This record gives sequence, structure tokens and C-alpha cells, in this order.
Amino acid sequence: MADSRTAYRTCPFCEAACGLELTIAGERVVAARGDRDHVFSHGFVCPKGATFGQVTDDPDRLRRPLVRRAGTHVEVDWDEAFDVVAAGLRPVLETYGPHAVAIYLGNPNVHTMAGGLYLSPLVKALGTRNVFSASTVDQMPKHVSCGYLFGSPLTIPVPDLDRTDLLLMLGANPWESNGSLATAADFPGRLKAIQERAGRFIVVDPRRTRTAAHANEHLFIRPGTDAFLLFGIVHTLFADNLLNPSPYVEGVSAVGRLAEDFAPSVVAPVCGVPADRIRSLAHELAASPRAAVYGRIGTCTVEFGTLTSWLVDVVNALTGNLDRPGGVMFPLAPHVRRGKGTGKGFRVGRWHSRVRGLPEVKGELPVATLADEIETPGDEQVRALVTVAGNPALSTPNSGRLDRALSGLSFMVSVDPYLNETTRHADVVLPPPDAVRKGHYDFSFLALAVRNFAAYNPPVLPPLPGAMDECDILARLTAIVSGAPSSPAEPERLLDAALRAGPYGLTLEQLVASPHGIDLGPLEPRLPEVLRTPSGRVELCPEPLAADVERLRGALDREPGGLVLIGRRHLRSNNSWMHNVPALVKGRDRCTLQLHPADAARLDLTDGDDAQVTSRVGTLTARVEVTDTVMPGVVSLPHGWGHDVPGTRQTVAAAHPGVNSNVLTDESVIDPLSGNSVLNGIPVEIKPLVRS
Ligand code: SF4
Repeated sequence: MADSRTAYRTCPFCEAACGLELTIAGERVVAARGDRDHVFSHGFVCPKGATFGQVTDDPDRLRRPLVRRAGTHVEVDWDEAFDVVAAGLRPVLETYGPHAVAIYLGNPNVHTMAGGLYLSPLVKALGTRNVFSASTVDQMPKHVSCGYLFGSPLTIPVPDLDRTDLLLMLGANPWESNGSLATAADFPGRLKAIQERAGRFIVVDPRRTRTAAHANEHLFIRPGTDAFLLFGIVHTLFADNLLNPSPYVEGVSAVGRLAEDFAPSVVAPVCGVPADRIRSLAHELAASPRAAVYGRIGTCTVEFGTLTSWLVDVVNALTGNLDRPGGVMFPLAPHVRRGKGTGKGFRVGRWHSRVRGLPEVKGELPVATLADEIETPGDEQVRALVTVAGNPALSTPNSGRLDRALSGLSFMVSVDPYLNETTRHADVVLPPPDAVRKGHYDFSFLALAVRNFAAYNPPVLPPLPGAMDECDILARLTAIVSGAPSSPAEPERLLDAALRAGPYGLTLEQLVASPHGIDLGPLEPRLPEVLRTPSGRVELCPEPLAADVERLRGALDREPGGLVLIGRRHLRSNNSWMHNVPALVKGRDRCTLQLHPADAARLDLTDGDDAQVTSRVGTLTARVEVTDTVMPGVVSLPHGWGHDVPGTRQTVAAAHPGVNSNVLTDESVIDPLSGNSVLNGIPVEIKPLVRS
């Protein structure tokens, strides 16, 4: 293309961290494709990454701050917007104290340098115990189990996809999600490569997902029962003398005692996986020299989320697959310093939520109790809210209640590029620049990558006139709440310092000179250096987890009841925020209620009917899709939809609204160890609706 140039940029839309090759014409990104020379992604791109230019150019994106006046959001300049923020936040802080201001941090923060560097100072300056994030509707159970096992909630082993011969995946659908808590550009290609080298991958899921359809084997499992299956495997490892514990592991025999009550014959009726298959899975994992168990969101957003996340790594550790090539391993990111192999360990409950008394975990409280804290009168009631890149009005349980609670706040400020279902409640909206106008380094995902690498991209385009950098927005908010003067943010200087102090001694200059990234080699064993436990060992049977096994034991006798709801993920969707991109929402309606033909027949429903779905907390109407890809007794709705509320400015999303599955999920049910919401396995009733 005449007068165009090429630039390279890591895709910030999901955890896969693919390298993109962008075609720039003037001030616009006119094409995006996979960067064939990228050291990690080798040219892979998915439909979301290919729309990079449409996302950055979205005419509905906010480019100037908004202030709400007489119920309408109007554009103002930055100084005026920050004056309104100061006038709204400072009186709440001064009158009611720091806990009267809550903060909610959404998932996109882990994809930005601003999120990596400038959120912690803001949270610290607020001094509130009411810190909430998308982690408690997602992966908090994994942080907690790893915190207890390895001493730090950020020490998370990832499956060594490129060298494993047997991968057992539970509650994960990387063919659609591109992977999570395991950064692996072209995850599907890496799975196919396992098969090409005569290995296997097995999927355990209540749905025959796209990943399951490509697997060597798919095992249906009842939603929320993966912990029973995994305990059945652990039981077999002990009973059949298959143990081969990884080095530096203690607490093996205590785990064996806990597993005694979970024989395959006992857990099979609960989880729905045949006892013989549970036994043979244990034998196959034990016999394979290079095997890995990987669990993702379906194992976290359930009532036994932390136990399940723990058991994933218990199986890895008992079969010798923790920290060895082809098993699960610990990445070494370029900005992270090596450790000493010991530390203070992990603990929770440094404070508790005011209303429900729920313990703090990893510096935050469960978002399932945010509405309680806003609605319940009393000292330290939440009266003001800061949201950064989050849409809790769609993404958290019983979101109808939270939506109503948000409208009752005294003041709310949101850092967000969209006027969406959450930010419509804000008094001030502060829009960050789009991804092409800011530097990019993955503080989070380089620490979760299945191969060590480094990549940094400077801004591809200059700032738009009148725009404010996202780091500066957060720094200015920090200054307002702390009362200290604001100074210009310096993210690149901070990154350079972290790289120089890191294990590879890299510099920012080296990364700038390497637009396709720098390969740092395959993962290498890191035990015991990576540990932060007081013992300097992998503490396989920590007391809080052992105590929670009693709760699991109590569920052994539960009779499977009626229909239960689970979520699902689509390749062209990413939670709630990419539904305003025409290329990603076109085609058939994907926000359908999937149910099995046997259930459909029993309920007198056929494809295309409307059905009323009711849970303890809410009711919605959804279009029925009859399919045997879900198991009998299970219905599925995707999450992140429900764009039909007034006061938003997302034209495309509003034309493809879908329904909000979190109208049905229940904020009163959480995984007690992590505070994570339970978004899968929700009891529902369904009945046909006659279309008028
Ligand atoms: S897989 Fe993720 S990182 Fe890669 S192009 Fe797609 S959205 Fe971007």
C-alpha cells in the first residue's frame, strides 16, 4: 500500500501475547496480521488480533473525559474532569475514611504497563480494604492454592506444552480462549504438535468444546466435580503404588490420608466419569515420563475451586511432573528477580469484609460482596467507587443487584475507554489512549509463558491531541487521593530498571532493537529457588486446604439434582468489552442457551424457541440451541453479554445485545478459601416461552 509503513506490536487482547504486524497508513492501523518473525507466536493470529485496527479506531471509543451533568455525560477537558474527581472523592475520604471508597480493577489491567506499574500506588494511596478485582470471578483459587504450595500466589506452574507427551486438561478451552494462566501463542497449534509427536491430550469438560472435539479423548464431567475426579486419581496413585514425588515436596503421606475416602468407585457416581477410567488415567499419568495436568476457569469458578486447583498440582507433584521438562514448570520472566528458595509463605485474612466477614485474599475482597458493602448502612459503608478497565455490572454474580447498587453511590469515577454498562453510572469517565498509542510490555504474561521470552513495543502512533497517557491518569488519581503533588509517569524508566535487575540482565534498549521479541529458551527447572515457603519445600498438604477437604467429603452423598448452568467462551469474544467490533459480532447469534436434546424434549423446547431461565436470584429469556455438545442436565450461556441497558455508548454492542448470564449467578455462593464466585453449576429452572 502506497504511503504505508509496518510496525510491530504485541496483541493485548488475550493472554497469548502474539506478535502482530501492523500496516499503518497515516494515523491509522489499516491491517493487522500475525508477525511471522515473532520469536514466540511465529505468525499466529486469531480473529480478535486481526481486528486490532478496528478496536483502536472504534468511533465509540471515548477520546475526551466525560462528566455527568443532569443525568447526561458531557465532554470536558482533563483539568475540569480531575477537579470533579477531587470534589467527589476527597469529601468522602475526609468524612468517612478510606474504607468508604472502593476500587474495582478489571481484567484488561493485566495487559497494560499502566496496570503493571501504576495501580499499586493508587490502591496504596487509597488505603482502603475495599479492593475488588476480576480475579475473584476468575482465577483466584489458583493463586491461593499456589500460594500455599509454593509460598507465593504468583508462583504458578504452567504446562510445558512443547515437550509434554500427555496433557490432561480440565475446564479449559484454549481452542476458543487461546489459553489462560498459561501464555501460549497458537495454543491449538501446540496441542496439535503433541499429537504429531505421538502424544495425547485429553479434555475433561461438561461440554464437548472445540478443544474437546480435537482431543484424543473427551470425558464429560458434571459441573463443579473435578475435585472428585482428581482425588480419585490421587487415591489410585497411593492405592496402586504409583507414587513418584517430585523433589523438594513434603506432605505426601498426609495427602494420601486425605485421599482415602475418595476411591474411584466412590467419586465416579458424583462426577460422572467411570471408575475404571479414573484408575487408568492415574496409571497413564504415572507411566508417562512427560505428562502434565492443567486446569483452568471451569476448575476455578466452582464451589470447590481452590481444592480443585490444588489437586491439579498434587497430581503433577505425585507423578514426578512438577518442575520437569514436559510436566508443569515455572517460567522465568525477564523483569522478575530470582529468589532465595524460602520466604514468609502465604496467608489470607489480614482483614475481613465489613458485612459478610469474608477474608482478604491477595490484598482484595471477593467481588461477590461488593454490592453488600455499597448497600448496607453503617460505619465504613462504601459510598464512592473507582473502577479501572472493569465492567462488574456484567461480569460479577447477581449483576442486577450490583447494577442497582452502583446507581446509589455518592460518587464514582471510571478509567475506561467506553461508556458501558458499568461506567454509565460514573460521575466521571477518564479514557486512556488506545493500544497503538502506548508502549507495551507484558508484566503478567511473560511470567506465565510456556517458553521464556521478552518483548517490548514503543508506541506505534503519537498521542492524539488532548489525550492523556494511561499511566499519567492513574498517577494523577493517586495524587488526588493522597494529597501529594503529581509528577509525570515514567513507565519505560521503571521497566528498564526491572529488566537490568532481572535474571537475564536485559535492557530496554535491547528490547526496542528487537521488534520480534527475544527468545530466552525453553523453561528450565527452578525448584527450590522459586519457592517462598518458610520450609523451603513444596508444602503439598497445607492445613487450610486439608481442612476444606471435609467440605468436599460432605458433598460425596449429594444426589445430582435438576438442571445446572455453566458458561462458555467464544473465539470472537473476550469477556464483555469486544462486542463493539463489527467483525467480531457479525454472523449467527452466539448468545444462545445450549441444552441437550433429551432435556429439550422433556421441556418441550426446540431449536430457536425462547426459554425462560430462572435461578435463585434472577430470570432471563434466552434463545434455545439444542445440541448434544452439552451433557444431559447441563445448560450453557456465554458470559459478557447483556448490552441492552440505557445510557451506554456502544452502538454495535447495543445492536447485538445478547443476555447477561450473571443475572442468574448467585453472589451468596463462593469458594470459601479464595472468595471466588461460583459461576458454573448454578441450579436453574427452564420453561418454554410462547413468542408473541
Ligand atoms: S490469540 Fe490472543 S494475543 Fe493472539 S491474536 Fe488472538 S487475541 Fe491476540
